[in-house]
Amino acid sequence: MFVRIEDTCISCGVCVDTCPDVFEMGEDIAITLVEKVPSTLIEQVEEAAYDCPVDAIILTDEE
Ligand code: SF4
Repeated sequence: MFVRIEDTCISCGVCVDTCPDVFEMGEDIAITLVEKVPSTLIEQVEEAAYDCPVDAIILTDEE
């Protein structure tokens, strides 16, 4: 699974709190530390995507 963040992010910090191994706050919006999500973190990343208030976390099967 691959993850990216769209620029509609409002920097609320939920994803960083939920999965700090994958998400970090950048200068303007959140950024991802990896593109391909390690299998051990998939559940946390899916939870972050679900909880993102503006649906800015995009999960895909392909890069
Ligand atoms: S949860 Fe969504 S809006 Fe909040 S910082 Fe993460 S990507 Fe941005």
